[in-house]
Amino acid sequence: MSYILLVGAGFSGAVIGRELAEAGHDVDIIDQRLHVAGNCHTERDEYSGVMLHVYGPHIFHTDDAQVWEYVTRFSVFKPYVNRVKSTVGGAVYSLPINLHTINQFFGKTLRPDEAKAFIEQQADTSISDPQTFEEQALRFVGRDLYEAFFKGYTKKQWGCEPSELPASILKRLPVRFNYNDNYFFHRFQGMPEHGYTALVEKILDHENITVKLNTAFDPSMTEQYDHVFYSGPLDGYFSFSEGRLGYRTLDFERFTYQGDYQGCAVMNYGEESVPFTRITEHKHFSPWEKHERSVCYREYSRACGPDDIPYYPIRLVKEKEMLSRYVALAENTEGVTFVGRLGTYRYLDMDVTIREALDTARGFLDCVENNQPVPAFFVKPL
Ligand code: UDP
Repeated sequence: MSYILLVGAGFSGAVIGRELAEAGHDVDIIDQRLHVAGNCHTERDEYSGVMLHVYGPHIFHTDDAQVWEYVTRFSVFKPYVNRVKSTVGGAVYSLPINLHTINQFFGKTLRPDEAKAFIEQQADTSISDPQTFEEQALRFVGRDLYEAFFKGYTKKQWGCEPSELPASILKRLPVRFNYNDNYFFHRFQGMPEHGYTALVEKILDHENITVKLNTAFDPSMTEQYDHVFYSGPLDGYFSFSEGRLGYRTLDFERFTYQGDYQGCAVMNYGEESVPFTRITEHKHFSPWEKHERSVCYREYSRACGPDDIPYYPIRLVKEKEMLSRYVALAENTEGVTFVGRLGTYRYLDMDVTIREALDTARGFLDCVENNQPVPAFFVKPL
C-alpha cells in the first residue's frame, strides 16, 4: 500500500483522500489553515447563532446523481433554492433574467412567447458566435438588460471590461421566459444541515486518514511519500518562477442587524457606482433554522495580492500564456498530481470539483494497479 500526501483539505483533497483511504492506502492531509473545507468553510457565529459562509456563499447544486449520492452519504442536505435579487436604478428585480424581470424592467405584461419575440428584437443577431461576455449578453438579452444587470456588476467583479472576458462566464446564467426564478438549472440543490465544514470533516473521518491543520506545505515533504496530490495554487508550487497567475480576491464587510435585513440570502447590486457587488444575509442560507439576529456581508472584489486569498482565476490571454508554462513545469515534476480550483487554475463549482476528485482517485488507483506513471494532471488546465 502507498503512503500518500494531500496538500489542502478542501473538497478536492478530502474526496481524493477518502477514496484512497477506502482503497487501503495511508493518507496524510495537510492544510495551512486552522480548519478543513477550504473556501467552503462554515462556522457558527457567536453573536447570532447563524451558520456563516466565512469565505462567501456556497450553494450546492448538481445534475450529477453520483456526486449527489456521494455528498448525501456524509450529511443530510436540507432543501434550499437559490433565489437571487438585483437592485438596479432604485428597483429590485428578480434574477436570473426571467419573465418577471423582463416585464418589470420594460413595464410590460408579456406572455412567454411574446417576451421571447420581444427579447429577440432587443438582441444583436448579427453576433453569430459570441466569444466574449459582452457579445454573449448583447446576443441573448440585448443592450438594455446587459447594461442594467451585467455590465456594472461584471466590471466590479472582474476588474476589466466585459468585452475582455470569455462568454463562458455569462453562460453560467440562464435566461428564462417563465417565472421560474431558481438561479440554477440543476436537478439536485441543497445545503448541508450542519454546514460544509462538518460535511468535509465527515468525509475525512476514516482510520487511514490523518489530518494535520496549521501545516504549510514544504517541497521537502514529498520525499517521504509515494505520491502527492497538490490542491494549492499551481504557481505557488513553483515559487512563482513564471510570475503570478491572476486571481480576484474578495473582501467581506460584516455588519449585523436585529431581525431580517434584506429578506433574501443574496442581493446583487448591478450598478458600477455602488462599490460592492452583493450583500449576503447568511441566516437565509439555512432557511430551516430560526435566528432573531442577523449577520450580513457586503462583498467587494479586487485584484488578488501576494498576501490575499485567491478566489476567482482570471484566465485571460496573458494568464493562459503563463499557465501553459506552469503546466509544462508540472508535467516535468514526478510524483505530484495537481488538482482542484487552485491546482488547475479553473473556475470550478463544488460539484465539478467533487466529480473530478472522484475521477482522479479512480485514475490514480488504475495507474497503481497497472504499474503506470501517475500524470501531473488528470484534468488539463488548458
Ligand atoms: N453576473 C452579473 N450580474 C449579476 C450576477 C452575475 O453580471 O447580477 C455575472 C458576473 O460576471 C459573474 C457571472 O455572471 O461573475 C457569474 O455569476 P455567478 O452568480 O455564477 O457568480 P458566483 O456566484 O460564482 O460569483
